[in-house]
Amino acid sequence: MRRGIGFWRWLMPVMLIALFLAVLFWLPWQARQMEANERQEQLIADTLWVEQAVRFQLGRNEEALTLLGADLVAAGPALDRRAIAARLDQLQKNSHELLGITWLDASNHPLMRAGMALGALAPASQTAAEHARKTGRGRYSEPYRASQTQMDYHLPLADGTSLVATYKLSLILDETVPWWFAQDNAISLLGADDSVVALRAAAGPGRGVYTHKRELDLPGANLRLATDSIKSAPRLLPNLLVGSVVLLALGLLISLLALWRHIARRLAAEGALRQQMAFRTAMENSLVTGLRARDLEGRVTYVNPAFCQLVGLPPEELVGKAPPMPYWAPEAMAEYQQRFAAVLAGHITPQFETIFQRADGERVPVLIFEAPLVDSNGRQTGWMGSILDISDRKKAEELNRQQQEKLEASARLATMGEISSMLAHELNQPLAAISSYTTGALNLLGNARQSGQPVDAAQLLPALEKASAQAQRAGQIIRSVHQFVKQREPERQAVDLAQLVDGIGALIELQARKVFVAIQVDIAPGLPCVSADRIMLEQVLLNLTRNAIESMQQSPPERRVLRISAALQSGQVCVSVSDQGHGIADEVGERLFSPFFSTKAEGMGMGLSICRTAIEFHGGTLSYRANPEGGTIFSFTLPDHSNHTGDQHAAYRRRRGGDS
Ligand code: ADP
Repeated sequence: MRRGIGFWRWLMPVMLIALFLAVLFWLPWQARQMEANERQEQLIADTLWVEQAVRFQLGRNEEALTLLGADLVAAGPALDRRAIAARLDQLQKNSHELLGITWLDASNHPLMRAGMALGALAPASQTAAEHARKTGRGRYSEPYRASQTQMDYHLPLADGTSLVATYKLSLILDETVPWWFAQDNAISLLGADDSVVALRAAAGPGRGVYTHKRELDLPGANLRLATDSIKSAPRLLPNLLVGSVVLLALGLLISLLALWRHIARRLAAEGALRQQMAFRTAMENSLVTGLRARDLEGRVTYVNPAFCQLVGLPPEELVGKAPPMPYWAPEAMAEYQQRFAAVLAGHITPQFETIFQRADGERVPVLIFEAPLVDSNGRQTGWMGSILDISDRKKAEELNRQQQEKLEASARLATMGEISSMLAHELNQPLAAISSYTTGALNLLGNARQSGQPVDAAQLLPALEKASAQAQRAGQIIRSVHQFVKQREPERQAVDLAQLVDGIGALIELQARKVFVAIQVDIAPGLPCVSADRIMLEQVLLNLTRNAIESMQQSPPERRVLRISAALQSGQVCVSVSDQGHGIADEVGERLFSPFFSTKAEGMGMGLSICRTAIEFHGGTLSYRANPEGGTIFSFTLPDHSNHTGDQHAAYRRRRGGDS
């Protein structure tokens, strides 16, 4: 189809050019033809003129001879021979073409003559003479050759004599043809068989291009006048014309070719451009990132479909708009205005987050990247912005945060729930003890009252002392649990590890006793205080000891030993919690500190993760190794309080919000 259209589009100009070239070539040919015709016609006219001149000359001679002949016949015997001779002479001298004039008697013997002597008549002349006498009219002989090519004119007279004029043929041409004609033409007289009998070629022979022949129509003589122009066929003008036509045609073809190549190149460039445009449009349309271009005044000059979709407005309502933009949310107007003023002043924030208001009023959180828009001359014409809808990211972040909070809360709650059930169980013991001691004391008092005897203080005191000790213990258990569960900001202080372990000893014991685990505490004497948050550190130790106790549930009773030790190692306080439990397999070890990793049916898998975060917050490290006696040793280091300077508060917060 395209081919067909191309063919017809080219047909017309090609035909026109062909026609133009044909006309260009035909014109000089026509001009040449016309010039040739003109020359030929000129030659014919001139030849006619010469013929007339020849005939006129011969005719004049005929008339003069006729007059003379009439006088001869009229004079008869009274002829004045001298006068006649004079007239003959004059006649012959006036006409240079005449070689001589002879008066012949009836038997062709000369009676008188002027000029050349005739002698015996040539056969051609003889025939003419006889014919003339027979018809009684003047007659020319066929040309014949004597001393030169000649021709006789016989005029019969009434008395039987005749006058004969002998012409030299070449002289006829010399005398009658004007010089200007002879200069341009070779003129000849042709005899019966087209043989040249006389020739005048003043300027050289003719070229045979322009020729003409005319009968001279002389009675008796078969003579023709032939002219042959020395001019050749017209050359200069046609050559010039042909030359210029060829040049023109060549120029035309070359310029057409150049034009064609130019068009082809343009078409190719246009094609490439179209393709690139299509590619770019497809790219812009398929982008999920919104694109927005603005001029230096802040007017929107371009938006892509993704941008329109983002703000819920068609391009017509966006392009050409100047701030305030239809997608600006009223509550953030001041922020937009401030940023726009900065843009006008030529300062952009390359990347920022803000909110847009969709056409339906919904708010969209967006991340915007802005860059200067530079044209092909390197001049800035505006700003280009790419806009990302970050609602999903924001939602995910929020969800993540909420989940993290929930998890931490539930981890705390799980520990708390566990502890509170154990607490209830364990508080039963001191409470039962208190109850029995007080019951004993009451019995003593009751007995004393009944018997009316005074109370024996020595008997009562130990029971009340024991009851008080049990009550204090119960209080301590409740306080430590309360502190553990309380949500609070970390707070550093100098912590004496021996005191700390002592403080949570009751809680650890509570768990240990459930599975019959013995506790060994080994704190090096004179250990310096560490700089730490007391509650966090307690949480770490409680978690590590809980894990250790749980690992030993299946161990033989004699091996159920939990050891808590602390010592100074190269300037740092190192705390270890060791057990002789089932130990940690390699595949478990790989994921040990990952949040929510647990091998326990009821496990949360948060314990170690929280421990590590807490230790790292204190600038220490938490690690584990296999216990040479079987089981596992978890240990962490803490900086000495006097050396501690840094504050890892921020790191801690980050971890709590991130991978914790
Ligand atoms: P949870 O105790 O809720 O499972 P943790 O993060 O405290 O969560 O512990 C993760 C896992 O590490 C445990 O499930 C257990 O398999 C393993 N683990 C922790 N401490 C010990 C230990 N002392 N001995 C053996 N395995 C342990």
